[in-house]
Amino acid sequence: MTLESPLPVTTNFLRNIIESDLASGRFQGKRWAGAPGPASALTSAGGDPARIRTRFPPEPNGYLHIGHAKSICLNFGLARDYGGICHLRFDDTNPEKEEQEYVDSIIEAVKWLGFDWTVGQTEHLYFASDYFGIMYDFAQALIRAGHAYVDEQSPETMRAMRGTLTEPGKNSPWRDRPAEESLRLLQEMREGLHPDGSMALRARIDMGSPNINLRDPVLYRIRHATHHRTGNDWCIYPMYAWAHPVEDALEGITHSICTLEFEDQRPFYDWTLERLRDLGQLADPLPHQYEFARLNLSYVVTSKRKLLQLVKDGYVDGWDDPRMPTLAGLRRRGYTPGSLRLFCERTGVSKSNSRIDYSLLEQALREDQDPVAQRSVAILDPVKLVITNFPADQTEPCQAPRNPHDPDAGNRNFPFTRELWIEREDFTENPPKKYFRLFPGNKVRLKYGYVVTCTGCVKDADGRVTEVHAEYDPATKSGTDGANLVKVKGTITWVSAAHAVQAEIRLYDRLFSQPFPDAGDADFLASLNPESRQVVQGWLEPGTVAQKNSVWQFERLGYFVPDLIDGTPDNPVFNRTTTLKDTWAPGV
Ligand code: ATP
Ligand code: MG
Repeated sequence: MTLESPLPVTTNFLRNIIESDLASGRFQGKRWAGAPGPASALTSAGGDPARIRTRFPPEPNGYLHIGHAKSICLNFGLARDYGGICHLRFDDTNPEKEEQEYVDSIIEAVKWLGFDWTVGQTEHLYFASDYFGIMYDFAQALIRAGHAYVDEQSPETMRAMRGTLTEPGKNSPWRDRPAEESLRLLQEMREGLHPDGSMALRARIDMGSPNINLRDPVLYRIRHATHHRTGNDWCIYPMYAWAHPVEDALEGITHSICTLEFEDQRPFYDWTLERLRDLGQLADPLPHQYEFARLNLSYVVTSKRKLLQLVKDGYVDGWDDPRMPTLAGLRRRGYTPGSLRLFCERTGVSKSNSRIDYSLLEQALREDQDPVAQRSVAILDPVKLVITNFPADQTEPCQAPRNPHDPDAGNRNFPFTRELWIEREDFTENPPKKYFRLFPGNKVRLKYGYVVTCTGCVKDADGRVTEVHAEYDPATKSGTDGANLVKVKGTITWVSAAHAVQAEIRLYDRLFSQPFPDAGDADFLASLNPESRQVVQGWLEPGTVAQKNSVWQFERLGYFVPDLIDGTPDNPVFNRTTTLKDTWAPGV
């Protein structure tokens, strides 16, 4: 199902479960009618061609973030590896917060990550809202069987009667009303005859259960709200905890994988499915819920509510701000689908919560891109280096590998001239110990060019260096015989001033200065890093073009991608994805 071949996988408890389910034939006899549906739709259906079915079920109430990538890679990856199918399902049961904009962005993000839900002719893209009719039938069936009732207590009273962890709840006075009455009231709720909060449909389970989730949970509430897909067709909406198992069962999901917070909901998940199965509404084998630890990444927040706040209150430029942990932001920042899949695979699947350091994400990008990123040179804090013994009208062609790991990529060409841009920090008048770069009297290699000897500098009235001067040694050109006879301790990068391409370069730091900005009750806004973005005007090696999907490694500086939203090929803007691991040692 993925477009690219899978990574080497490490086993995990979910893989073990699936393998033992497949070995025991747990899903033998499972049918699939070609589309989701209740038991009645399966009577003449053939066997399910998918050995397992998983799903990624986002609520379209925000943009996807790195935590969702984990769930996507897991669910689509398991389906891929075990001959299964993974559904993309929008869990759109909460009309007030959901929007088409989010649906579109989610579809785009999952595709971008490299996953696909079309198998043969069938697109396994589903919407919970398409099941509202069936869910309503199921609710009626539960009422008729005595498993649900309409409660006319206010939401506050219901909450008060629910009890606590140490005290049982109390039965509602409406709990034992006749089924006919509940059926009629549910019908009236649906017809819009009652205001929000005036009544609700509740499961009739056990107000004394030690598991609060089993104390007659609400199945349907009244919400006079317009839904982004069903418009005003409905004014009652199912609650997530009830709707979710129903959605899974209608879609023939075998392994319903969610995060640990839902562990306490599993008994209600099973209660719902078993009651509906016993009533003939759903067919065996039923889905089973499994929980794994959510991804908690340091230096970011991943609650959609908090991300929305960052956007709405202008702390970032939008959902796709390169500092955001959204997939749209990570993409703009330069994270590739391969790097995110590698990160998700490598951070594993666990049953206990842990925290993952942001540096693992950066490392995944480096590993993904080091073999392929095009090399180039950028000078971010330029000062002019004048080669005083090099003629002003001369250009000397130089070359360097496009990617040292990939000889087939060939070489890049760029000129050496009398006036170059170098990094300001690569010159000093008074070198500290172990400083091997330019200072009067010292020799360094201009990478891919010549060895030069620094002869001094020019300063303005404020004492700021405006030009560095040096003389080159014509016998030392890189790649020519004898080039290495002159030994130097430092090598620096440069670009020809007359040929370099000017670009805006955006350098990013962590958006938050605390590793876990929203841990406990902390106000996450208090630890926003005011210096999370630095914008500089730099000079790029000629040929460094700002094209779509081009990832660059600027030597010494890190991985960069063009920002095609704010920049154009003629006015390039580059975002730094991450710095380099310190493998290129220019001398201090
Ligand atoms: P939020 O609470 O911020 O709104 P959510 O978990 O409710 O996020 P959903 O749209 O319901 O967002 O999530 C879709 C799927 O992604 C769910 O199955 C959820 O378990 C999974 N998911 C969300 N966040 C993470 C995370 N940090 N790690 C792993 N899976 C996650
Ligand atoms: Mg959710």
